Amino acid sequence: MFETLTDSFTSAIKKIRFKDDEKALKKALTELKKSLLKADVHHGVVRGLIAEVEHKTKLAGIGKDQFLDAMRESLSAILNVEGNKGFVFAANPPTVILMTGLQGSGKTTTTGKLALFLKEQKKKKVLIIAADLQRLAAVEQLRQITEKIEVDLHADEAATPVEVVKAGLEKAKANLYDVVLIDTAGRLAIDEALMAELKEVKDVAQPDEIFYVADAMTGQDAVRTASSFKEQIGIDGVILSKYDGDAKGGVALGLASQVNVPLRFIGSGEKMEDLEVFLPDRIVNRLMGFGDIEGLAERTANVIDEKKAKEISKKIKKGKFNFNDFLDQMESMKKMGSMKSLMGMIPGMGDMSKALKDFDMENSKEVKQIKAMVASMTPKEREDPDLLNNTRKLRIAAGCGMSQVEVNRVLKQFKNAAKMAKKFSGKKGMKDLQAMMGQMKGGGFPR
Ligand code: GDP
Repeated sequence: MFETLTDSFTSAIKKIRFKDDEKALKKALTELKKSLLKADVHHGVVRGLIAEVEHKTKLAGIGKDQFLDAMRESLSAILNVEGNKGFVFAANPPTVILMTGLQGSGKTTTTGKLALFLKEQKKKKVLIIAADLQRLAAVEQLRQITEKIEVDLHADEAATPVEVVKAGLEKAKANLYDVVLIDTAGRLAIDEALMAELKEVKDVAQPDEIFYVADAMTGQDAVRTASSFKEQIGIDGVILSKYDGDAKGGVALGLASQVNVPLRFIGSGEKMEDLEVFLPDRIVNRLMGFGDIEGLAERTANVIDEKKAKEISKKIKKGKFNFNDFLDQMESMKKMGSMKSLMGMIPGMGDMSKALKDFDMENSKEVKQIKAMVASMTPKEREDPDLLNNTRKLRIAAGCGMSQVEVNRVLKQFKNAAKMAKKFSGKKGMKDLQAMMGQMKGGGFPR
């Protein structure tokens, strides 16, 4: 997730050997500019951002910390578009949302994800109306999705979109639904017929808000189409789907600055649980490669129970994360979605996500090795990684058929990960990280 932008920031930061002079700053800015353009950020936005970062850094006094602060502030400002955040409920239920987007953007999947989010996290009674009658497979797809997530569906293949919406809304009112999500027709590209149909549906539905689902993989195209939808039918929020793929991170900046509609949620995987509320500051952290411990904990909480997630997060903070927790995590990660999207959330691991492109959790050699190693440990050793002295390591190595060197390597990785997680998980985490980066004269990014 976000790798292109994260990589660029990382390399820009590395480039700065700040001897506190303007030449170093210029070099860093040039690097940043190149990488922003590569990440598909519109040149106008890049120009503005660079000018702002330069101005702010100079005002604060040239240095690595000041450069990072300026970047953070400027990115936050771009992503913080005025308007509603997350999901907003209407004063009088049901809250009616029109879900729009091009075919293949992930609109139908996202409608299901949003319904699950409202049902599970907000404890709301949700009805989905299948008004995408252009593509009958879409109705069938919604039927499968709603059965899986146990959310009600109103569908009628024989009716017109307007009729379906009317009947669905009546049903919602009569049965006291809290939220109605209307899945509207999509096309491969914007055309007049599509817009006419959407306008008709909009008139009947009188939605509280219109969400536009934008496919992050389509870069500047997503920005252009979102602008068109905004002009023609008016949109109140954007949900950015497929932000877990090879999406260029810049699209979030483009949508925020060029379309000027708040991003509300991001889709980060194919599973129904893979939807997150869009929080600008969190995204800025991730864009800058600082990770997102909170997001990770929330994702975990969606699939395992909240109590357990809190316990684990507490353990990480106390530096007491042990092998049993690790196995627990492995089990729940299987349910959680791609490893790659999770890696982006772990501090300092942003870079790793690229290496994990097609990482197959259950069949990877590394995970198998760790599991075999843990299986050869005594219960006490699993509880307390510090117990592992050389004698114990030798025994474990023999038990799991690994060399001692391999055992040491795996242990070291485990300890480093636990240490990093602890260091950056507290409230002070970001400040610590920035201070540490300030100290690292020669560059080099924490891994
Ligand atoms: P629609 O035509 O706009 O309704 O698109 P669909 O909902 O059918 O989605 C198209 C494809 O994108 C499907 O294969 C989905 O599984 C996939 N998809 C949707 N959202 C995401 C996402 O956030 N991440 C990933 N990796 N795939 C997604």
